[in-house]
Amino acid sequence: MSLLVIGSVAFDAIETPFGKTDKIIGGAASYISIASSFFYNSINLVAVVGDDFPQVFIDELNNRGVNTNGLQIKQGEKSFFWSGKYHNDMNSRDTLVTELNVLGTFDPLIPQSYQNCEFLMLGNLLPSVQSTVIERLQNRPKLIAMDTMNFWMDIAMDDLRKTMGMVDLLIINDEEARQLSGEYSLLKASRIIRNMGPKYLVIKKGEHGALLFHENDLFFCPALPLEDVFDPTGAGDTFAGGFMGYLAKSGDISFKNMKKAVVYGSAMASFCVEKFGTERLLELTEEDVNARVKLFLTLSDMGF
Ligand code: AMP
Repeated sequence: MSLLVIGSVAFDAIETPFGKTDKIIGGAASYISIASSFFYNSINLVAVVGDDFPQVFIDELNNRGVNTNGLQIKQGEKSFFWSGKYHNDMNSRDTLVTELNVLGTFDPLIPQSYQNCEFLMLGNLLPSVQSTVIERLQNRPKLIAMDTMNFWMDIAMDDLRKTMGMVDLLIINDEEARQLSGEYSLLKASRIIRNMGPKYLVIKKGEHGALLFHENDLFFCPALPLEDVFDPTGAGDTFAGGFMGYLAKSGDISFKNMKKAVVYGSAMASFCVEKFGTERLLELTEEDVNARVKLFLTLSDMGF
């Protein structure tokens, strides 16, 4: 039993109103793996990097119990590179650079020891690579979740539709939900998107929390108000990691338990934004996480 994580493992360069970084470690799968490792100890990573990627970060993942046998290191090639600049509100950003490099030809090979995973988290990647992973699994996982972004909606919508038709849960942000559905109302958007395949849908609204949809059920979890948000990069992936890590640990995919998973995901995401890149996540303890989850419960306690 395990959680299989695929996605980008990358270099990012980030600019926010609070500062600017050179190349730091990023990538959807990096954030997902780190966040889920706080809850679950059987995490298998499938990703690709070039020979420019630091071994010390791979060691860091291993130390957290993340299995990197499925991480391909391409000699003589460069890792995926993404650069983004946030606007003053920190809720929106412009992508400045996307260099696919090794991701452009990524063939996601699944080690035999990764087969029979119960949970699959398809982090942000080419939709065709995401669907290939599903096709290469000998048994269908109990829950398949995916993330995507506007970049793929712009250049690979047919592949994205195909992949969406194969998954149970889609985790995206409000802007992406609006682009994907063509609807401004998130309620209307949620219906259109769920008609494309995923029975469950999470729409993240940045500092305005997250919504979980399934059939006629709707759940809302606020985001924790923070004094300082330094860098929102990876918050969405960290949410997904916390969410899936919690579900994998409990093994329960009922709507009731998914609501708890949304709270755990939101708590992890609230840490991520407090420093640049993965820095804050890497210094967290289990006590920090538990205390933050308690804060979330108090925050939305309506006193009834
Ligand atoms: P988020 O802030 O949750 O949207 O995730 C940001 C992370 O996604 C960064 O660390 C990037 O390296 C990664 N990323 C950005 N664009 C892409 C893309 N087109 N494909 C895969 N990963 C990407």
